[in-house]
Amino acid sequence: MIEKVIEGIYWIPGRDQFIPDSHVYVVGKPDGEDFSLVDCGLLEMGSYKLEELDKANIPLKHIKRIIMTHTHLDHIGCLPEILQAVPHAEVWVHREEALYLERGDARIVYGNSMFESLVRSQYSFPKDYFTFKVHRKLEGGEELDLGGIPFEVIHVPGHSAGSIGLFNREHKLFMSGDTIYADGAIGRYDLVSADPAALKNSLEKIAGLNIDILLPCHNRIVNGGADAMVRNTVRQWASLLT
Ligand SMILES: [Zn+2]
Ligand SMILES: [Zn+2]
Repeated sequence: MIEKVIEGIYWIPGRDQFIPDSHVYVVGKPDGEDFSLVDCGLLEMGSYKLEELDKANIPLKHIKRIIMTHTHLDHIGCLPEILQAVPHAEVWVHREEALYLERGDARIVYGNSMFESLVRSQYSFPKDYFTFKVHRKLEGGEELDLGGIPFEVIHVPGHSAGSIGLFNREHKLFMSGDTIYADGAIGRYDLVSADPAALKNSLEKIAGLNIDILLPCHNRIVNGGADAMVRNTVRQWASLLT
């Protein structure tokens, strides 16, 4: 079910299968005609999200772009399915992972070869399924206007090389992808392109944002008062990440 976080920011919770399915956030002023999706979800998990948009009276023609916090399978798996429904939408990805997607290198998508074999045994899809045109390659530091709502792109490498977060200063709202979750958890740092030392720096950057609303891509969201939890999480993990 789609849920309003604050005016202009909506949450479509993921529906985990034997592999997790990422949440999707929808951004854009409700009376406008410019909406963005942040992340998509696991293979075959696109159609219920499109139905949720319909229930929220967001026409698919108003979806202008899909921004990926990073390109792991549980986030990008149903991008092809969603792009079939919104073929006009642009795809925005951090440069570090965009280059992989454009040359059809799916190593970051799968994260490791064991996981790739598992996924290939469970789903059938064409060989070049994870080759995409990326319309905008993000670097970090961009100030975006997403349908009337300002966000800064923050590059937070570590969980993967091109992980980003999206920060709205007014509400101290942070979409953290898989870098940090609620309740003391952080994203894993043993997959292709992960880097524990970089993750430590990224977490320290995140702790400095004084986050009030934390919107991670898995598990629960924290709709207010997240700062102490975020700082605690970062403090506890910092000594383990080198
Ligand atoms: Zn991930
Ligand atoms: Zn994930």
